[in-house]
Amino acid sequence: MDRDIKQKEGLLIVISGPSGAGKGTVCRSYLKRNPDTILSVSVTTRQPRRGEKEGVNYFFRDKSTFESMIENDEFLEYAMVYDNYYGTPKEYVFKHLNRGKDVILEIDIQGALQVKKNFEKGVFIFIMPPSMKELKRRIVSRGTETPEVIMKRFKSAYDEINFIDQYNYIVVNDRVDKAVKKIEAIVMAEKCKVDRNRDFYINIREGGCLNDRSTTK
Ligand code: 5GP
Repeated sequence: MDRDIKQKEGLLIVISGPSGAGKGTVCRSYLKRNPDTILSVSVTTRQPRRGEKEGVNYFFRDKSTFESMIENDEFLEYAMVYDNYYGTPKEYVFKHLNRGKDVILEIDIQGALQVKKNFEKGVFIFIMPPSMKELKRRIVSRGTETPEVIMKRFKSAYDEINFIDQYNYIVVNDRVDKAVKKIEAIVMAEKCKVDRNRDFYINIREGGCLNDRSTTK
């Protein structure tokens, strides 16, 4: 999959973390400060929550539609999370990466592991809550889930944290603005990596100069 993407493509930023860690809030705030970054909108079979909009929060589809999308190889990754399917549409993500846009995937760990296998240039960030007590408080205070779902999500958090070694970075979300600044620093550092700038330094060595397509700018 890597070979399909040209040099100077955008960065694929994969963000995971337990339910209630505040991934959604951190991502929204990051996007506000970095309006050139694209958030991938996932497809899900779960029911919309109060206030959620089709094509904004998710593309809401029934199970058979989702399964035919799997058949047609339309997903970069997909997973069953809390009894519902969730998946990242492949075409949308690659279109933007090829245009040089950074793309954020806010996905669960199973999905992140699939992306890692297929797209090693991704940047994998794990968002942690400041404590498990705070995590529970956040899940409960959302007020959108039944008590059973709350318990399920809280229990899963312990399992999910065991996968942190699979990620490149950990960001504690004690304050959203601090977490966002850390992600900005990660993105900047990643863009300065030698590996991501091969054609830039070859160009300089050959007598060229810094151009607009440099990821280091
Ligand atoms: P929620 O139902 O709270 O919106 O999301 C439940 C979980 O599914 C979250 O951990 C969220 O990050 C994850 N998720 C959302 N979209 C995707 C996706 O496209 N793929 C995968 N693997 N997980 C997703």
